Amino acid sequence: MSLLAHSPEDPSPRSAPGTEDDRSYLLGHARTEFYQRSVTEGVGRVAAKLDAAERPFTGVTPAELAPEVGRVDLDQPLGDSAAALDELERVYLRDAVYFHHPRYLAHLNCPVVIPAVVAEAVLSAVNSSLDTWDQSAGGTLIERRLIDWTAQRLGLGRAADGIFTSGGTQSNLQALLLAREEACRLERKNAAVPPPRSGVLPRLRILTSECSHFSVTKAAMLLGLDAEAVVSVPCDQDRRMLPVALTHELERLRQADLVPMAVVATAGTTDFGSIDPLPELARVCRDSGIWLHVDAAYGCGLLTSRHRPLLDGIEEADSVTVDYHKSFFQPVSSSALLVRDHTTLRHATYHADYLNPARNAERVPNQVDKSLQTTRRFDALKLWMTLRVMGADAVGRLFDQVLERTAAAWEILTADPRFEVVTRPQLSTLVFRWLPGDGTDPAQAGLCDRANLHAREALFASGEGVVASTVVDDRHYLKFTLLNPDTELSDITAVLELLAEHAGAYLARHATPDRAELSPGDRQAS
Ligand SMILES: *Cc1c(COP(=O)(O)O)cnc(C)c1O
Repeated sequence: MSLLAHSPEDPSPRSAPGTEDDRSYLLGHARTEFYQRSVTEGVGRVAAKLDAAERPFTGVTPAELAPEVGRVDLDQPLGDSAAALDELERVYLRDAVYFHHPRYLAHLNCPVVIPAVVAEAVLSAVNSSLDTWDQSAGGTLIERRLIDWTAQRLGLGRAADGIFTSGGTQSNLQALLLAREEACRLERKNAAVPPPRSGVLPRLRILTSECSHFSVTKAAMLLGLDAEAVVSVPCDQDRRMLPVALTHELERLRQADLVPMAVVATAGTTDFGSIDPLPELARVCRDSGIWLHVDAAYGCGLLTSRHRPLLDGIEEADSVTVDYHKSFFQPVSSSALLVRDHTTLRHATYHADYLNPARNAERVPNQVDKSLQTTRRFDALKLWMTLRVMGADAVGRLFDQVLERTAAAWEILTADPRFEVVTRPQLSTLVFRWLPGDGTDPAQAGLCDRANLHAREALFASGEGVVASTVVDDRHYLKFTLLNPDTELSDITAVLELLAEHAGAYLARHATPDRAELSPGDRQAS
């Protein structure tokens, strides 16, 4: 009752702390009216934003926004959600970067599907923690079904298992932890005189392509491996790991008496969306008895798509990372690590008498036995609701639309002499740069770099579109990551026009007189 007193209609002052009033904020029995009204209010604000957003971003700068946030007195509560939401409009909602907007083309962020957002509201309110059965019950079983479902789509076999994680970074870390433990175990088992663990660790090496994700290197550091532990394997022109180069590196390690602990293949590199040749890499790993981890954080969307064959070979992996929050249209966080052999997850198992006593391990399904986390969100519910409401095929069709649009955008870019594209996409990224006309003078390279960087920044500042940038062969490139089925080709061409305008204007302003003749305008004039 008392919370109604804080509604905007009746802004009575709050009573002293410790009274019945404070408890009215707790979600629970007989307080559900305030709960429903507050959540509906919040949802209403977001809905209004989504309907109104004409641009993906307002172009606000940190200098403009920081004072707004700084002005908030965190020791002076507003007492009701309407006022707090009004304030939130100024400090967050007004200037947030909106991924649902068709001209948001920057990073691996997807628009989210509504069934998953409903699940998000359910899971945070019930607030199950998936570490133990006695904190989740059905949640544990739902997560396990989804792990089995994913493992089956991957083709990992009947002994597979896995766990939901906070993201691809954590999934990769855990995969490499398991691989490290298995490598240590085998190395000691196979030696005439088992070396101490401390003797094995510095000799472990992880092989991964030069285009793989930086979380592999981070994981190596966290796992206490040598600074040189990550061996970078060269790629072909399409940015896929070269199997012959892998074989070559393995031979080199063997001669140096080093231990290849894992090969990390990428199914969808972050920059190029390129998929390493999984069947060939799997063969190399099988022949040498090396753990194969496939980082499919991005490419996992193919599991429900018409283009599933692009993942052929993934069924031979020892472990796989999937990020549902990248290509399954799920809200952050939603990710999982899958393993071919469930017994390898024991390397993450620790028992605490108060939580998951060893004596219960057989009888009670405690997910904490398989996880690096303890208290853990029921993120699996989002995928569950998605599959139950719309189904896997619908998710796959959405991803397919994105892939088809990317292929069409590649055609447009390659036909446009103002742009140069690096590779033909397998998934949904396009790495390209604006060129100051046909035929680039090497002397202009630095200027061209700066023009591209400027184009991205100017576009971001205008809020008309958001694109990413990256570096290829020491040159600055622009990048589209397409994950929104609502992005039409007209959005893509409109953003390209804006980028070309910004870059051209920069060149016109900064080209030195003798170089200015290379700018398109001058060339036309001459
Ligand atoms: C995004 C990404 C990651 C990291 O995943 P997070 O969910 O951001 O932690 C790892 N690998 C690849 C290939 C990725 O694209």
